Amino acid sequence: MSTVKEKLMGHVSDNVTAPIGKITVVGAGQVGMACAFSIFIQGLASELALVDMLEDKLKGEQMDLQHGLAFVRNVKVNSSKDYSITANSKICIVTAGARQNEGESRLSLVDRNINIFQSIIPQLVKYSPNAILLIVSNPVDILTWVAWKLSGLPSHRVIGSGTNLDSSRLRFLIGERLGIAPSSCHGWIIGEHGDSSVAVWSGVNIAGVNLSEVDPNIGTGNDKENWESIHKEVVDSAYEIIKLKQYTSWAIGVTVASICSCIFKNLHNIHAVSVCVKRLRNYKVEGLHLVGHRGVSSEPLFLYL
Ligand code: NAD
Repeated sequence: MSTVKEKLMGHVSDNVTAPIGKITVVGAGQVGMACAFSIFIQGLASELALVDMLEDKLKGEQMDLQHGLAFVRNVKVNSSKDYSITANSKICIVTAGARQNEGESRLSLVDRNINIFQSIIPQLVKYSPNAILLIVSNPVDILTWVAWKLSGLPSHRVIGSGTNLDSSRLRFLIGERLGIAPSSCHGWIIGEHGDSSVAVWSGVNIAGVNLSEVDPNIGTGNDKENWESIHKEVVDSAYEIIKLKQYTSWAIGVTVASICSCIFKNLHNIHAVSVCVKRLRNYKVEGLHLVGHRGVSSEPLFLYL
């Protein structure tokens, strides 16, 4: 007896089973799920694989996403603590690990998260040897280097979310002061994600007009309007949000999805990411270019995806 499915559809050819645009997210906590949700809602992936140690949490998150599928672009959502479900991913996002408690610095997480990475990174590479690893767990710059070392992959395939979020926070705060949409406020935070980051005031511009031309003191100690306080606010904002809601999630999710979109669609956008820059001048591999930031550092700091 034929089933309803068999009566409805004749068999013409076998289903395509190889994933086309698959993204894995390791760590289904607050950050991992914010990344997964941003990717889900933007329809970026054809497959989304979630990995964590907590099986019930994984199952719940998987079902919760799937129940919204009627209203977004279709994506196959899978979850397991077994890394075989991550096979053939194009991008593997790593958000697993300890997060800061109130008042705790990102750097204090390093030992705990290196231990966790030792069990995660080899598994990801085993099942997706051609993937780009996108590290988000903190301290993100150090862990990107650790992931690169553990993976054995070429350095251009192991990047971290870097100061992409910090730059987004800067643009929001500049926009608030000027009454201009953050997407039309241009400026970069470079260096380490977090406490020692650097705001590049010489490059902050609106429609090509550098604020440092409008006021040469901008961002300096002589600046009467104290624009540098915006950078302090950027640095303090994670601590502030963690004090208020225990974790940060939505903005990092959106910035990570934007990096994924750039890679998938080859958009040639600029993102400030963590990358091993040593010996990588004039670097151009598989559509990834490094762009230096003149006057701030002798090393290239941006990855042009
Ligand atoms: P969380 O505690 O909500 O989630 C962490 C998840 O990792 C948990 O679900 C946990 O079960 C899982 N996990 C732990 N060890 C694992 C392992 N060995 N294998 C698989 N899964 C494992 O924490 P969160 O708020 O989601 O933060 C995650 C990380 O992201 C933290 O390190 C945090 O500091 C970092 N973070 C980075 C940025 C950034 O801009 N780079 C921004 C926010 C948070």
